[in-house]
Amino acid sequence: MYTNVYIIEGGDGHIMVDSGWDSQESLWALQEGVKGANLKLRDITKVIITHIHPDHYGLSSKIKQICGAQVAIHRIDAGFILPRYKDFADLVKRTEELLRQNGVPNNELPQLKEASLWMNKYVSPVAPEIMLEDGNTISNDSFEFEVLWTPGHSPGHICLYERDKRFILTGDHVLYDTFPHVGINPQSGDNPLGDYISSLKKLERLNVHFILPGHGPVFNALGLRIEKILQHHEDRKRAIMQSLRNGLKTAYEIAHQIRWMLEEGGIAFQDLAIWDRRMAIAETLAHLKLLTEEDRVGNVDMDGASLYLSKD
Ligand SMILES: [Zn+2]
Ligand SMILES: [Zn+2]
Repeated sequence: MYTNVYIIEGGDGHIMVDSGWDSQESLWALQEGVKGANLKLRDITKVIITHIHPDHYGLSSKIKQICGAQVAIHRIDAGFILPRYKDFADLVKRTEELLRQNGVPNNELPQLKEASLWMNKYVSPVAPEIMLEDGNTISNDSFEFEVLWTPGHSPGHICLYERDKRFILTGDHVLYDTFPHVGINPQSGDNPLGDYISSLKKLERLNVHFILPGHGPVFNALGLRIEKILQHHEDRKRAIMQSLRNGLKTAYEIAHQIRWMLEEGGIAFQDLAIWDRRMAIAETLAHLKLLTEEDRVGNVDMDGASLYLSKD
């Protein structure tokens, strides 16, 4: 999936939003795009990263080298950079523990726990000069963006809202043709789906004409898209409750009973690629956490494995 990189021209320097993967191909594509728009990379003074996933943050270090721009990231996601991309042994270990506790059999653990490591090749970690917080404003004389903290997809995810010009950059928070991934992992926080839904509701009433997402096409009708995403999570909760009708199950077992990648017609768990399997388990856990908070699901520990049961 390609990543959208935005350059916002301004009298006081250009702002770049997200950077793409750190690969020769994406740097080349970026240079060509910038040239085609009659812009110059060296006029970029700030690179704002919506969240630290490799497809958004990866190339920021190279951009900084090329034009000396300052990198800005929300404080929470900035704290994840080193444990995720540099000293990641502890993160892999904690991922393994989480997977084991949730029913992943021993023979599948080695593959699943390392399923995301290949991505580190496409990231050059750089410390941000600017730590963002909810409500900060960033301006380049032509545009003024308000930072909206929208945790869920990542705990330090932000959207950038141009109130006067009525548009918003949404990173991976709201996408037009995909349901953004929200899952439990060692860097996700306790209840990421609860956070995500609150963050979606925060945007629901914004008066915007255009939504500029991190992937896929620019679109409008933000409220309708949010409604669709909320409905998707309700449907998934229902599917999980259904799977708990015939007894206690681990998150791994529940993930097997759900159809995944619904945007592409639906795929069974066992037919997913390794990385998507891990995302599916993480998403199942996020829904289970929300259902636990709603007191519809209970949880018991048996021989080190977490088993879920329906309270409905
Ligand atoms: Zn992401
Ligand atoms: Zn992304």
